[in-house]
Amino acid sequence: MIIVKAIEEVRSRRRGERSLSWGFVPTMGYLHEGHLELVRRARADNERVVVSIFVNPAQFAPNEDFAAYPRDEARDLALLESEGVDLAFLPEGEMIYPPQFQTTISVTEMTRLLEGFSRPTHFRGVTTVVGKLFNIVQPDRAYFGQKDAQQAVVIKRMVQDLNFDVEIVVCPTVREHDGLAMSSRNARLSPEERQAAPVLYRALLQGKAAIEQGEAGGDRLRSLMAAIVRGEPLARLDYVSVADPHTMRELDIVQGEALLSGAIFIGSVRLIDNLVI
Ligand code: AMP
Repeated sequence: MIIVKAIEEVRSRRRGERSLSWGFVPTMGYLHEGHLELVRRARADNERVVVSIFVNPAQFAPNEDFAAYPRDEARDLALLESEGVDLAFLPEGEMIYPPQFQTTISVTEMTRLLEGFSRPTHFRGVTTVVGKLFNIVQPDRAYFGQKDAQQAVVIKRMVQDLNFDVEIVVCPTVREHDGLAMSSRNARLSPEERQAAPVLYRALLQGKAAIEQGEAGGDRLRSLMAAIVRGEPLARLDYVSVADPHTMRELDIVQGEALLSGAIFIGSVRLIDNLVI
């Protein structure tokens, strides 16, 4: 595995392998099985696999956990090596955002909702860095997790709207044995908080079960899921949602597909999860 820090070196390697398919997995590191499943899928689909590790300051608001975000470069690189990754791209912050940097990418509508409502500048940071990484790596395919459902839809919108020549592949959410969606942020939970953390998944499962039993009222479903989260003393509800999985708009009535999603705080750690019905 080659470890590359310089943008120009990624570019020149790409120029040398124009005829080979490149699969790309962008990450913020502190890798877990969720990331590694994306890597394995990329490995199966492509001749070359590139993984980036970059904790992107632009997608964190000033009051969020950029400084506290867990990092372990040596462990991450060992994991990627063992998965047969060809190139690990670890740019420095100043390379991605040099002093005169002033251009951003915004997906304007669906990013006002759900995660974007709670974190108004988040998706602009995500789309800007992913757009930059696509321009640097120029992959044939890029792999994202269903765990960040809205992010995947926003990236697909960006790719379509700006004619990026890349196929977006979305892979299933990988969970711990008790259902908690794997997340780098789980490492910041105390043992008691870790025990409480699956409450969001349980709420989503109850919402799904209610739909399967015939409940179609969006407000009633949201109330049901919110009540389950509120029953956990260590959890603080940010939101729960029953939305159209394409537009992210809240549904009054569930008729066909629905994205059940939510965000909670446990201590200072913010966790998200979702289920698609
Ligand atoms: P992150 O490092 O958290 O920015 O995540 C990098 C990529 O891994 C994103 O596409 C995430 O959606 C994906 N990912 C993170 N956690 C999981 C998980 N538990 N299951 C599947 N994909 C995940």
